Amino acid sequence: MAVDKKRCTRCGKIKPHADFNKEACTATGFRADCRACRKAYRNRPDVKKQVAEYQAEYIQALRNELRCWILVILTNGRLECTLCDNTNYTSLDIDHIAEDGNKYRKNGAINILYYQKMLETGCVGLQCLCHGCNVRKSIQIK
Ligand SMILES: [Zn+2]
Ligand SMILES: [Zn+2]
Repeated sequence: MAVDKKRCTRCGKIKPHADFNKEACTATGFRADCRACRKAYRNRPDVKKQVAEYQAEYIQALRNELRCWILVILTNGRLECTLCDNTNYTSLDIDHIAEDGNKYRKNGAINILYYQKMLETGCVGLQCLCHGCNVRKSIQIK
């Protein structure tokens, strides 16, 4: 076999190194399976579904973590509602002091970039409110 070629472990074809992704930690410096096989593998519906599920879980976990950080910052670690001292964590939410935050809560989820922006700006203009106080506030505004 020519030096610049190798056999794909998946399809068994002998292909030039250019058809394999580089992988530093392997003996040959290339992945065992060729690019075409990698692509076919990634496009399999079950693999796609698995990747999507993994990503969704990862995003959910990251979102929860960012949310927790913000709430910790807003309450100096006490994790309680600014208005009524409610400490039920699942009821606590990030509130925009000056406005009704509903426009940020489209589809029930604030995206990660938005949380990151809150952290970058030092959570200015935000407070921690429980669900009950949040509802009372939005009724007052309307
Ligand atoms: Zn292959
Ligand atoms: Zn409250």
